[in-house]
Parts: sequence; structure tokens; C-alpha cells
Amino acid sequence: MKIVAETANCVGAGMCANVAPSVFDIDAATGLVQVLLAGGDVPAAQEGAVADAIAVCPAQALQWGEGAGA
Ligand code: SF4
Repeated sequence: MKIVAETANCVGAGMCANVAPSVFDIDAATGLVQVLLAGGDVPAAQEGAVADAIAVCPAQALQWGEGAGA
């Protein structure tokens, strides 16, 4: 599955990076979320953590994406 981060909605709260630090980080330059995974493709082992991040994001900036990936 893919994770999509809408930086336009992100408020830089960093909750996602706390919950799934191998998937999300806060960009030092913008203060907003960045996805660390190439193409946003989430390994199965990380899907639970990403689902938790989606749930805790206070800005609804994270969502599962469409597409089969590269
Ligand atoms: S939890 Fe949501 S608002 Fe906070 S940094 Fe992550 S994407 Fe942005």
C-alpha cells in the first residue's frame, strides 16, 4: 500500500514521526512531514505503524493512496 502525505494540510505536529519514525520525518527546512519511503510504498511490516500515524495525525494530512506502485 502507498502512503500519501498532503503537506498542504500538515501542521508539523510530528505525531506521525513519533509513531512511525522509519516512515515519516519532519523536514528541517519546511517543518512539515516528509515520507521517507521511495514512492510512498509501505512495506507490509510497517502498515500497522502507518495506520496508527494516520489515526493520530491532528490535521488529517495522511491517507492511504491509490495505485499499484512502481
Ligand atoms: S502528524 Fe500530521 S500534521 Fe503532524 S507532522 Fe505528521 S502529517 Fe503533519
